[in-house]
Amino acid sequence: MNGCKLCGSERVGALSDAQQIRYKSFRLEVDLAYSVCKACGREFVATEQIRKNDQAILAAKRHADGLLSPKEIRRAREVLGLTQHKAAELFGGGRNAFSKYERGEIAQSGARQVNPR
Ligand SMILES: [Zn+2]
Repeated sequence: MNGCKLCGSERVGALSDAQQIRYKSFRLEVDLAYSVCKACGREFVATEQIRKNDQAILAAKRHADGLLSPKEIRRAREVLGLTQHKAAELFGGGRNAFSKYERGEIAQSGARQVNPR
């Protein structure tokens, strides 16, 4: 945990709040993390929390779109007996696509729909 950049205190608590996010026609509820300094009361979002929040938002959007989760992608790839590189060669998305999908850093694109919403 990072200390407070304002007063330098190490007494920083981690909290989270459910936030509503609009995405396409959905209203998604995502728990977003933030920090509060117990010494000076400053609220901030630490770098690690920004990364986690981005992933939580991405996961909620992925779920709303009906896409596979990172775990499901890894399981499917492993069932097929493919390495991440081999899977990227077959399915596209770029050389490091599957390592990014499986870490939840980026969402895969869905199959092209005949009648997109
Ligand atoms: Zn402080």
